[in-house]
Amino acid sequence: MRNIAFGYSTQCNARCGHCVAADASPATAKMDLARASAIIREMARCEVKGISFTAGEPLLFLNDICQLIRICRKNGIYTRVVTNGYWARSRESSDRVIAELIANGLSQLRLSFSRWHQQYISRDNIVRAAASCKHQGLDYFVSFITDFSKTDDACEQFLRQHHLKFFPEPLIYFGRAGELERPPVSTDYRPNLCPMNPYLSPTLDMFACCDAAHRFSTTGFLYLGNLGRDTIDALFQKNENHALHQLIKTMGLTSMASYLGLKAREIVQYRKCELCEKLFNSRENLKILTDAAASDLPGWRR
Ligand code: SF4
Ligand code: SF4
Repeated sequence: MRNIAFGYSTQCNARCGHCVAADASPATAKMDLARASAIIREMARCEVKGISFTAGEPLLFLNDICQLIRICRKNGIYTRVVTNGYWARSRESSDRVIAELIANGLSQLRLSFSRWHQQYISRDNIVRAAASCKHQGLDYFVSFITDFSKTDDACEQFLRQHHLKFFPEPLIYFGRAGELERPPVSTDYRPNLCPMNPYLSPTLDMFACCDAAHRFSTTGFLYLGNLGRDTIDALFQKNENHALHQLIKTMGLTSMASYLGLKAREIVQYRKCELCEKLFNSRENLKILTDAAASDLPGWRR
């Protein structure tokens, strides 16, 4: 099923220290509303079934996003908005924004929450926004971005105390988070599969992954193309026919790392996205894996 993260604008009213989107350039890029509307109609014709409005803070452009959600609803596309909740400063403003999103057909709200967000957005906003969703019947969840350190215990306790529906999301050390200290990883030998949600940027560049859109600059591994030159369907097909992109979803990064000769002891020290970058942002590794994808890699077992 085709889904996409839709970056209407990279503009944000916060400057979180862990922001992956800080890699995006330019920082204030915004799509033309008429073009965005046409793109979504074209996506509907190409069997896109889910759109997640993301990038900077989408609800800085509430009216525009509502218009785009309406087009999605008309075309049977499931919609999600990823927001930092800045607009839930009071119960009244929170209720008003949620009512407007529901009236236009939003399917789900994803509230971003972390200790870094709290330097800009009060955590009480997340509680108010979730309460408005519950009260008005909008599906929501809190995305709790964490480095799994003890420092975050208080954040998790806060979410539990308020009975919020939350999912821990591992911090990705890209963008501004690249500067943060990395606690050592301790996992078992997990497969490191990745669903690879594609991402469309405000400058109409499309990438195979929304979390690392502007990374992998040595090889351009995740870059699919630009809608100024290619059709949406062509870029989706490029992703779907890319042997290594598909193997990341089905075989996982661990087996591919093992194929390259990395020792198990070494592999377990990598976070998923860092392992991905090691494998595919090296010209040498990429060539080996590209050749192997057409021969013995798909059937290879450690
Ligand atoms: S993490 Fe989200 S809220 Fe924070 S600066 Fe980045 S886009 Fe804005
Ligand atoms: S593992 Fe690779 S494809 Fe998946 S989110 Fe991380 S960088 Fe993107």
